[in-house]
Amino acid sequence: MSDFYPHLFTPIRIGPHELPNRILMGSMHTGLEELEDGVVRLAAFYRERAEADCALMVTGGFSPDLAGSLNAHTPPFDSEAQAEAHKPIPAAVHDAGGRILLQLLHAGRYGYHQHIVAPSPIRAPINRIAPREMTEDDIQATIAAFAASAKLARRAGYDGVEVMGSEGYLINEFTAPRTNKRTDRWGGPFENRARLPQEIVKAVRAATAPDFIVMYRISVLDIVEDGSPPEEVITLAKRMEAAGADVLNSGIGWHEASVPTITQAVPRGGYAWASQLLMGEVGIPVIAVNRINMPETAERVVADGQADMVSMARPFLSDAAFVRKAWEGRALDINTCIACNQACLDHYFDGKISSCLVNPRACRETELNWTATDTPERIAVVGAGVAGLATAEVLAERGHRVTMFEAHDHIGGQFAIARHIPGKEEFDETLRYYARRMNQLGVDLRLKRKAEESDLEDFDRVVLASGVVPRIPDIEGSDHPMAMTYTELLTGARKPGRKVCIVGAGGIGVDVAVYLAERDGRSHTDPTAFRRRWGVNARPEPVDPPHEIILLQRRKGKMGAGPGKTTGWVHRLTLQKANVEMVPGVTYRRIGNDGLTVEVDGELRTIPCDSVVLCAGQESVRDLESALDAAGTPVHVIGGAAHAAKLDAKRAILEGVTLAARL
Ligand code: FAD
Ligand code: NAP
Ligand code: SF4
Repeated sequence: MSDFYPHLFTPIRIGPHELPNRILMGSMHTGLEELEDGVVRLAAFYRERAEADCALMVTGGFSPDLAGSLNAHTPPFDSEAQAEAHKPIPAAVHDAGGRILLQLLHAGRYGYHQHIVAPSPIRAPINRIAPREMTEDDIQATIAAFAASAKLARRAGYDGVEVMGSEGYLINEFTAPRTNKRTDRWGGPFENRARLPQEIVKAVRAATAPDFIVMYRISVLDIVEDGSPPEEVITLAKRMEAAGADVLNSGIGWHEASVPTITQAVPRGGYAWASQLLMGEVGIPVIAVNRINMPETAERVVADGQADMVSMARPFLSDAAFVRKAWEGRALDINTCIACNQACLDHYFDGKISSCLVNPRACRETELNWTATDTPERIAVVGAGVAGLATAEVLAERGHRVTMFEAHDHIGGQFAIARHIPGKEEFDETLRYYARRMNQLGVDLRLKRKAEESDLEDFDRVVLASGVVPRIPDIEGSDHPMAMTYTELLTGARKPGRKVCIVGAGGIGVDVAVYLAERDGRSHTDPTAFRRRWGVNARPEPVDPPHEIILLQRRKGKMGAGPGKTTGWVHRLTLQKANVEMVPGVTYRRIGNDGLTVEVDGELRTIPCDSVVLCAGQESVRDLESALDAAGTPVHVIGGAAHAAKLDAKRAILEGVTLAARL
């Protein structure tokens, strides 16, 4: 047992297996699955996590047949050749002392290809392709395919399978009245709708040995109209146990749900109450999921009896050594997942390989590595924004002597400003992580020290990570007393009036609108306030924004498209609920005592307001570069200092790590 998280590190039995802790690394489809060298890279990815004491993990989703594939590029897991090809993955995990399950996922109507099937021919609101209704033969073949894939998974060396029954995929489409309009023995009353998962789990159990783990992922909360009511969820859980499942993992919300389930809007552990529904109802372990990103939250979930175990997925991207650090009581050394989705889910949905904003090595284990340097240098890093911090960390790990200059009295740069946005409180964790790393690695961090050319004379090289400053747009009156930059607003240096115009609707303009729209950020940290705010099994709270907000942009067309694919909709919904007025296609004319004057479609419009917040992008700060060049000092410019356009923390950190790995 751990001295630090006694409940989390109390061993638990799953079927005949005893696990040393109660943490599951949940399924993540990384995109490596589709690559030619994907197995080698996946083996390295899972090995690293198993080596750091992650005892049980689940792969990304593999379909048991062609119709169930997520897209046209992902081959189903349905042949001896597939089983043979997968062997290095479980072998690597076993070698490192862990166990791994293959997730069997039939995408149903969520697949992006022409062969998709579903219980009824109803198109998903998030898919352009309509599914074909399954026949009795299709259903029987699907059950057989699940059993055959499970058998192959065992042959590949996997310790078990997770049967994906949640998130609105095929099995979930059968269990919920929303998508199952059948009138045969697979639709109608609950008995019939529950038949498919029962038959699948029974068939999988029968096809495999008793020591083969069968995990069923049950949708404890669909969060869609006509989803399964709680009493059906509980009965289904009991049926799954009777059918032979060894453990129940939870699933929260369908992909088409319009309530956040894993974004920064969700408080830590904010859905564990939904898994608790099953506690005491079944004799097999129940696993809680979603927004559990630090050991204390995980410990609380288990200690409070909300679940027997916790599942974490993204936290294993941000830190491969999560379990080891928790066991050793080093939670503050964990590089915490900040729930941004920017490099993981957004990448996946953009057809890119997943990684992690705060840990770009995730899913690059075979290609982004560094070793101790043979030629330690004295290196100055100018700027302790995330680009500079990431660079300094890796340089110091490699044995270089690093001195870091930061003009402010704190680290973080723009990222430290971002933390004031409701939901971005998690950014504090990244800054806590870097602060500790600088200290542990002996980086000579000089705060309140604006580096001048003379400070940099004695170094072998300089990394210029001096970042960006807000752009002051060329609008008449941008120096008017009612105008302020987003940094002045967010740092509290200036107070906004009641009616506020926001110039620029990029990522920061939208964030500023959210900041002004939220009276308090409680729903981001308090699960009860979150449920009331979003109307999850509770009456949605009326929204009463403290400001009247007008968001403007020069481009015509969709507003607020800046933030990521999997999170942008949450911001847009927040702004809609707060009645934020969106005005695209403007030409800014003037800021004056009468407000902000713009031209839209050839007409002048003066918007009376009390404040104008300038969110018109940024400009690079690289004034030291030419002097360093002239002095012959090797200089590397990274992050916002290199390019202000399309800058974000993901790019800044990746550039820092990549540079430091090769110097
Ligand atoms: P900066 O953050 O600008 O850091 C540069 C540092 O250098 C500063 O601390 C500065 O004081 C220091 N400096 C400059 N000159 C000197 C000198 N001569 N001597 C010493 N120190 C010096 N990005 C995302 O990816 N996701 C988000 O959700 C997100 N949200 C955001 C929300 C807001 C409100 C804001 C403002 C930004 C957000 N960003 C987000 C953007 C992200 O924070 C920045 O892109 C990133 O932090 C830039 O990092 P950087 O290190 O390149 O530059
Ligand atoms: P941005 O997304 O590039 O948006 C800049 C905005 O300013 C746009 O609306 C833009 O043009 C407007 N603009 C540019 N020049 C202007 C000018 N001269 N006059 C008036 N308006 C002008 O940049 P940002 O909002 O500053 O964000 C910086 C970075 O942080 C971005 O890369 C962003 O992705 C990242 N970020 C990410 C998130 C997230 O949640 N993922 C959140 C915040 C920030 P138009 O008016 O022409 O459209
Ligand atoms: Fe977490 Fe963001 Fe990393 Fe994804 S990219 S794992 S959400 S920190």
